[in-house]
Amino acid sequence: MNKLNVTHAAGCMEDFDPNSLTVDQALGRIQETVETLAGIEQVPLRSALWRISARSVTCPSAVPAHSNSAMDGYAVRSADLPSSGEKALRVIGTAWAGRPLDGRVETDQCARVMTGAILPNGADTVVMQEDCEADGDSVTLGTGHRAGQFVRAAGEDIAEGAIVVPAGKRLSPTELGLLASLGMGEVTVVRKPRVAFFSTGDELRSIGEPLQLGQIYDSNRYTLHGMLTRLGVDLIDMGVVRDEPDATGDAFSSAAAMADAIITTGGASVGDADYVTDTLRQLGSVNFWKVAMKPGRPLAFGRVGDALFFGLPGNPVSVMVTFYQFVMPALRRLMGEHDVHPMRIKARLQSDLRKRPGRLEFQRGYLTTDPDGGLSVHSTGAQGSGILNSMSQANCFIVLPLESGDVTADTLVDVEPFYGLV
Ligand code: AMP
Ligand code: MG
Repeated sequence: MNKLNVTHAAGCMEDFDPNSLTVDQALGRIQETVETLAGIEQVPLRSALWRISARSVTCPSAVPAHSNSAMDGYAVRSADLPSSGEKALRVIGTAWAGRPLDGRVETDQCARVMTGAILPNGADTVVMQEDCEADGDSVTLGTGHRAGQFVRAAGEDIAEGAIVVPAGKRLSPTELGLLASLGMGEVTVVRKPRVAFFSTGDELRSIGEPLQLGQIYDSNRYTLHGMLTRLGVDLIDMGVVRDEPDATGDAFSSAAAMADAIITTGGASVGDADYVTDTLRQLGSVNFWKVAMKPGRPLAFGRVGDALFFGLPGNPVSVMVTFYQFVMPALRRLMGEHDVHPMRIKARLQSDLRKRPGRLEFQRGYLTTDPDGGLSVHSTGAQGSGILNSMSQANCFIVLPLESGDVTADTLVDVEPFYGLV
């Protein structure tokens, strides 16, 4: 806790709790705590999509291996390019992609070449067929050509020994193609983390069960299922756990025995039926449990045995916000990924926003492109943290800083697009 914030708390920061960490401090604690899993495995390329490379992959030999033609046309010696008028060259044969020409282009000669064909010996330049006049085995060139044009030099794409995929990279279709282009059929990746999760709450019912008065369906396990699946972890869905200390403790222990990380939702607050933070204190260790953010103030982070522990709030929107802000970067670090922070960009606000100073807020917004190419964002309206609808209508978070009060339309604000949330 730094002094500045305490001073603010006494002054205008009406919503500030001096016992909570700022979002950045909380992220810093997570960053210090989480280390990459030790296990690695070798997987075939097609199974490697969205996995994280465990080691850097270096290029075994130059790409392309040989100089080749970038166009369909004629391979010539640059000394034969006319500086004025025209020049006729004799065609000695054809070089195809995958079928090199056996021969050498001498002075006053050229060779027919196809795109991708190895450049015949003697030639150093390609003239596009559209720029030539062909007549039998004679080809006439004009002026305006440059020595070396339309030749892809050996090693131009990747030099031998260059790192093509660094360690800690999430492998996209691009990397699968890149590794395939080097003839590699397998890649070494970090093993998938096992993540156990359960909901807490006596009011929760599973789909298919009739609802009694005051009961609701458990939606958090479905959102978590989706977010975790997209991240590429192994899931252990432990269902709903009653608001009862022994049941909570048992769930903690069995989760810690099988998982690298545990996620709970609900019961993390200070109500009479909230047992998550106390159980964490008893069976593990609490790193922090309050963050100056909205939604999501009760957010417990710690350890149970060797497992990381995240006690998320119960409200469905808070679950998504805290997952994306804290759990996702933590799991990505656990998986060994290097680039784990969401992209933030500026957009012009189209609506007035209400906000009290003291907590960093993630409001739901809709980002659009203006006709002039700029970015605009407007609020999706009601920001209640129980309403998943407001997430469904949004395509970004509007991120309002801790000290900020109300924000008026036309202000430039930070937004985090949902696209690309892994
Ligand atoms: P809690 O943090 O346990 O006090 O929960 C806060 C709010 O979120 C309450 O209104 C809960 O009913 C609701 N809630 C908690 N868990 C879930 C869940 N798994 N699915 C839907 N709503 C939930
Ligand atoms: Mg509860």
